[in-house]
Amino acid sequence: MPVYEYKCDDCESTFTVIATMAEKAKGLTVTCRMCGSERVRQVFSGIALISGKSGGSQFGGGCAPGGGCCG
Ligand SMILES: [Zn+2]
Repeated sequence: MPVYEYKCDDCESTFTVIATMAEKAKGLTVTCRMCGSERVRQVFSGIALISGKSGGSQFGGGCAPGGGCCG
């Protein structure tokens, strides 16, 4: 699921919006989560991935592959 990050011009708060590619292509109306302003702009820096830290540990957290803890 694509996640887009926006910043409000009025209150300068940042927030993320989840929308499909189709919704984005049709023209997504985004309003500020904090003040409701429509003067928001998309920011492209700092797209966060789910895995926060890069590392080699296979026991870093979450479900281990084949561990069966997700059931
Ligand atoms: Zn705002």
